[in-house]
Formats: sequence, C-alpha cells, structure tokens
Amino acid sequence: MQAITVLGATGSIGVSTLDVIARHPDKYSVFALTAHRQIEKLAGQCLQFKPTYAVVADDGAAVALQALLSAQGSATEVLFGREALCAVSSAEGVDTVMAAIVGAAGLEPTMAAVRAGKKILLANKEALVMAGGLFMQAVAASGSVLLPIDSEHNAIFQCLPSDFKNTDKGGVKKLLLSASGGPFRGRTLEQMRAVTPDQACAHPNWSMGRKISVDSATLMNKGLELIEACWLFNVAASQVEVVVHPQSIIHSLVQYIDGSVLAQLGNPDMRTPIAHALAWPSRIESGVADLDLFSIAQLNFEKPDLTSFPCLAVASAAAREGRDAAAILNGANEIAVQAFLDERIGFTQIAEVVSHTLNSLALTEPDSLEAVQESDRRGRAVSSDYITRVQR
Ligand code: NAD
Ligand code: MG
Repeated sequence: MQAITVLGATGSIGVSTLDVIARHPDKYSVFALTAHRQIEKLAGQCLQFKPTYAVVADDGAAVALQALLSAQGSATEVLFGREALCAVSSAEGVDTVMAAIVGAAGLEPTMAAVRAGKKILLANKEALVMAGGLFMQAVAASGSVLLPIDSEHNAIFQCLPSDFKNTDKGGVKKLLLSASGGPFRGRTLEQMRAVTPDQACAHPNWSMGRKISVDSATLMNKGLELIEACWLFNVAASQVEVVVHPQSIIHSLVQYIDGSVLAQLGNPDMRTPIAHALAWPSRIESGVADLDLFSIAQLNFEKPDLTSFPCLAVASAAAREGRDAAAILNGANEIAVQAFLDERIGFTQIAEVVSHTLNSLALTEPDSLEAVQESDRRGRAVSSDYITRVQR
C-alpha cells in the first residue's frame, strides 16, 4: 500500500490523480489532500478518499471545510497554511507526494517532500525551474525518487536507456521535446494582439488549469519545459530540441547516436503519465482509452516559430544564462499571466514583461531556497511595476 499526499488535489492534475487512485484501492491510500480555495470540491474529495489530513489556504477556509466535513461525520483533520503543506508533504506516514500545486507556491512543500526523501511525482514544473540546482542536489542527498508527470518529460523518461545516469548517457544524442503549438499556432504577433483569456485557455488537445493554458498559448510552457528537461535529465539546453507536433500523440522522443529514435505515444490524457509514475517500475490501468492510430491517420511536425512566440526564445536564453535567470523568468511570467487573465495587459505583452524584467536585473547564483525566493520576489517586483506603467 502506498500512502499518498496530493498537493493541489482540486486542480486538473489533482483530479486526474484521484481518478487513477480510485481505480486501485488495493494499492493506494490517501494520506492528505490540499487545496487553496475550492472548499466544496475538496470536501467532496475528502468524503470519498478519507485522508488523514486536509490542508487549505487560511483559517477561514479551514473553518468552512471543517463545518462541511463534520456535518458528514468525516474524521479528516483540517489544517491550514504553508507550514501545514510542508508537514503533510514530509510526514512519516507518507510514501509518495504528487506535487500538483500551480506556480511558485508549490516550491516549499515540494522541497519539504524532497528533503524528507519521499517519492516525488512532479507536475509542478515551476518549482524545478526556479530552484533546479538546489532541487536536484536535495534529491541526490535524500535519495528521493523523482518521477516526471509533465507528459513530455514522462515520455522522455520512458524512452531513456536504463544506464543513462551511470554511463556516458547510454548513447543518447538529443532529447526531442514535443510541443502542440497551442491554440494560436500559425498566427503572427499582430494576429494575437487582441486575443482574450478564454481564447488563450481553449487548448486544442489538453484540458488544463488556466495558468498552464496561457503558458501553452505563448509557448512559455515549452520554455519552462526546456529548463525542466535540462535539470531532470542533466543535459545542456543545446541537447534539447523543441518539435512542434500539433496532434499531441507523440509526447516526446529520444535520439540515439546510432540513428535510432525512440518515442512514447498515447492519447493526450494526463492519467497515462500519472499512472506510469504511480506504479513505476510496474504498470497499472489508467482509464485512458486505447490509442487508435487508424483514426489519427497523420502525425505532423514543424519547427517552432520564435518570432511569433518570443517567450520560447526568452526562456531558452534564460536556460543558457543559468544562475537565477529561470527563477526571475518564472516569477515575472506568473505576474504577467495573471495580469493578462485579469485583462490588464494584452496577450503579446506577456513576453514584453518577461524580457523587460530579465533585462533589468543582474543575475546572482542562488545558494539557498531563501535566495531563490528572493530572486522570485525581485522578478515579481520589476514585472509588477512595469505592468502598472503599460497596462490599459
Ligand atoms: P490548476 O490550476 O487546475 O490546479 C492548481 C491546484 O493548486 C489547485 O488544487 C489549487 O487549489 C492549488 N493552488 C493554487 N494556488 C495555490 C497556492 N497559492 N497555495 C496552495 N495551493 C494552491 O492547475 P493544473 O493544470 O492542475 O496544474 C498544476 C501543475 O501541474 C502546474 O505546475 C502545471 O504546470 C503542471 N502540469 C499540468 C498539466 C495539466 O494537464 N493540467 C500538465 C503538465 C504539467
Ligand atoms: Mg507538458
């Protein structure tokens, strides 16, 4: 029996995780579920999965959740705040932590789980993007098992040779990172100037939270994933190539020195990488429909358009610059995406905010989690200030 904490249980990844867990009550039990503000949804999940703990944002949310649970005779104990998030991620009773909080808010509890040597299922890519070096050092020091949930990285993980880490990369030449191209593939910058948040969030293949949906539309998501791949697989940015593949059937590929290219395919449904990571190195059923190659019929590929999607170029540059460039980039991007969702800036201004922020700040080498958080704060301050000057 694996005892699991799901950080961000009410989100898109959280819900898919609980869907897979519910299919295997003999293998998985839920230790804790956490959510920010969706109290009714979390209450329903607590009644179904009976976790020992539930964690919410603040005192008010905790009182509301406790009332809903007590009315149903639930024994789940309700906690709130950041320390409680870290506690349920590192507690002795937990084997596995699904890190599925969106954004920088997930960094501290995910690091708490890493430091406690838990098995980490990493969806919260922002945590790794911000704190890559420290994160991977902590994984090595604690012996934590780190498994990627991001579909592309999970695909690469599945296609890598078993001796990848021990030998000289086991004959791997390059990682080919799939990108759908998002809802605005093929458009010029001019044609994207007036798009609305709802249009940006209408992803052609994946149903996801609003922040990652906007990132997919700007291709910042692919930039964050490039940085994520460099840390996860210990490769340079030059060894990762983004391949636009609009059908999202091939989730990524690994190219070997002998000319072989291995790919992982599947329907675009996050329950596949979630089930893979939960059961690894075994396999379990996920509820995902069988891939029907005959109805798909065609798989297409193209190069990313860096002129229309400058966020990918900005993130690639940050990956090469190292130090705290990625933490600043991530903080600025979170501020810019929220400003776009609040209709304070236009879609194409997201890239402008992020580049302006990176160009305004001197880079430093972060040597602690606090230093990473300080870089994040600096990125947020400069981008917020820029937005107040340019907003409509
Ligand atoms: P979502 O917005 O649907 O859910 C986010 C979850 O985090 C919710 O449970 C919310 O309550 C919680 N949360 C939000 N702000 C919080 C805060 N300040 N403190 C504590 N909890 C907070 O997001 P999602 O689409 O499920 O994505 C989650 C993470 O997984 C992101 O990092 C995303 O990049 C990554 N990811 C998602 C997908 C996908 O298909 N949705 C695919 C790959 C990677
Ligand atoms: Mg992805």
